Amino acid sequence: MSTVNRRQVVGGLGALSLMSNRLRANTPRWDVIVVGAGISGLRTALELETQGLTVKVLEARNRIGGRLYTHDDVPNGPEAGGSVIGGLYARVQDTIKRFGLDLEPMRPREPLENPPNELQERVVFHLKGRYLRFDDWPTFDGNPFPQAFRSTPPWSLDLAMLGANNPLEQLDDWLTPQASKYDVPLATTLKQMGLSDAGIAMGVALNQAYGQSPTTVSTLHLLQLLAWAKHQRQRGDVYFHIKGGNQRMPEAMAKALKEPVEQSCPVFALHDHGKGVTVETAHGALEAKRVLVSVPCTALRHIKITPEPPRAQRLGIDTLTYSTSTQVLFRVDDAYWEQDGLPPTIWSDTEIGQLLAFPYGPAGATQSASLWISGVAALEADKLSHSALVERSMAVLKRIRPKAAKALTPIKVFSWQQERYTGGTWASWAPGQITAFANQISQIHGRIHFAGEHTARLERGMEGAMESADRAILELLERTL
Ligand SMILES: Cc1cc2nc3c(=O)[nH]c(=O)nc-3n(C[C@H](O)[C@H](O)[C@H](O)COP(=O)(O)OP(=O)(O)OC[C@H]3O[C@@H](n4cnc5c(N)ncnc54)[C@H](O)[C@@H]3O)c2cc1C
Repeated sequence: MSTVNRRQVVGGLGALSLMSNRLRANTPRWDVIVVGAGISGLRTALELETQGLTVKVLEARNRIGGRLYTHDDVPNGPEAGGSVIGGLYARVQDTIKRFGLDLEPMRPREPLENPPNELQERVVFHLKGRYLRFDDWPTFDGNPFPQAFRSTPPWSLDLAMLGANNPLEQLDDWLTPQASKYDVPLATTLKQMGLSDAGIAMGVALNQAYGQSPTTVSTLHLLQLLAWAKHQRQRGDVYFHIKGGNQRMPEAMAKALKEPVEQSCPVFALHDHGKGVTVETAHGALEAKRVLVSVPCTALRHIKITPEPPRAQRLGIDTLTYSTSTQVLFRVDDAYWEQDGLPPTIWSDTEIGQLLAFPYGPAGATQSASLWISGVAALEADKLSHSALVERSMAVLKRIRPKAAKALTPIKVFSWQQERYTGGTWASWAPGQITAFANQISQIHGRIHFAGEHTARLERGMEGAMESADRAILELLERTL
């Protein structure tokens, strides 16, 4: 029998303890870790808990809700993000009911969301240095639209032209190989339909809501939007907002979780090691059997994933384009529209983009307003410091609307592009991107699953985020129960 000396015993114990540490380190503590406390991540976490799984939600920010963010520090809390809840948002409306929240009529955020009978009294154009009312627009000598579309307001020209003949009928037609032929620049399609360069500049590039420029957004993306909008209108033009702010919904969802969301806990890396996934976070490494990543691609780009996702999925994560929105928010001290007799909201071709006056106060009082800058103009605005942007905006307002400049007190500047954990507003597919990776972006990669607005196949916006969660829930349950 060999004798064992003290050194060998200590050495052996050390190796054993290292091994058991390693084993412990790789032993999943949770069935599923969810990265992101937006509505897609929260919906998944709630349902998995209900099904008996152990779930941990990790959220980078010190607030819940992601792109549902109510400016609670601005009078009457306008929405920075998701605003309009459609009549056919079944999942969203069901969640609102479940958590005892109340719906109120939609809050107009953009001119095109104003009810048609209120548009004329609430919105005025400021184009080429002139104020124009709706009646002036069709005969305005600076109106570059083809005869059939001269009365279409500039913010709906692209949708009006494409909508006249949309080849997509079903909600998932945009993902079929046949639809690929429309996955081309919007500017090219509209040019082929007879729109001039000046028409594209006014009808697409100005205050652009989808994509960052007319050449970098896909026609197919807008056709999908139109098919979906038609589906939504089946219940009529019925739209809602959550009383007290849309952010109250994700907050209520988070509160209902058995295990609280870990906030201020950004995830840096995900490593699928064969027995589970190691999740590296600002608070250390955590282990789970599986992980759901519910963050937009603009944030996912900063999370290291090993092993590498397949080529098409990697391309999607790295390049999917997002629309833009930079906002300058004001308190309204005086009813400037009563002083100068013009409607309160302006749609302009100046650097301020749109001035949106929010009639959300008691009895419809307008107590706050925001500049809403989008498209390339938002990227330009982001190059300025917040104080320089406010200064430039006030100078433009003084020039084009002196009474408004006097009546508005700046409160804050907010840019979705500058938010590290969002990086844009919503996925706005560039030409070729739908064909290249729309069907691959949400594929399960080993033990890593994907959800979020950009992975929705049928719905869009908030309802799309929840639809993506439902797919992820089934995928996760199939593999963990
Ligand atoms: C300006 C704007 C207007 C909109 N208007 C509408 C509208 O009118 N109607 C509509 O239906 N939809 C609208 N939307 C879209 C809607 O808000 C979104 O589709 C939806 O909220 C997205 O939810 P999500 O769960 O997919 O993503 P998110 O809400 O973005 O959630 C992702 C979460 O992940 C977190 N995260 C990111 N990186 C990390 C990390 N490394 N570690 C940990 N956590 C991380 C984020 O902080 C965030 O909380 C709008 C969005 C914006 C921005």
